[in-house]
Amino acid sequence: MSSLLIAPQHERNIREHGVAYVVESVAYDSMKVTHLCNYHPDSRVYCKNCDWETTVSKLPHPDTDNSVVQPDMCPDCVKRGELGFVRSTPKAAKEEV
Ligand SMILES: [Zn+2]
Repeated sequence: MSSLLIAPQHERNIREHGVAYVVESVAYDSMKVTHLCNYHPDSRVYCKNCDWETTVSKLPHPDTDNSVVQPDMCPDCVKRGELGFVRSTPKAAKEEV
C-alpha cells in the first residue's frame, strides 16, 4: 500500500473511515467521491485541467449497488502535485430509456 498516492484533502477521512477507492494508483476517500448511477459504460470521465480521460466502465464499482465512483480530483494531476477537477458526460444516456 505504500506505493499508493492519496488525493488532496482525502487523507484524514481515509484514516478515520479506513475505506478508499483506488483509481490509477491514487486513493480517494469513499465519502468524497461521486456515485454515478445508471451511467453508460462508455461515458467519458475527464479532467478539466489536463488530458486525463477514462470511461465509466474503468472506474471502481462499489459492491453495494450498481453505481460506479467518480473521483473529485484527477489522478494524473494528483501525481504531478496539481489540482484537476474531474467531470463526466452522460453520453448516450437516452439509450437507457
Ligand atoms: Zn488532470
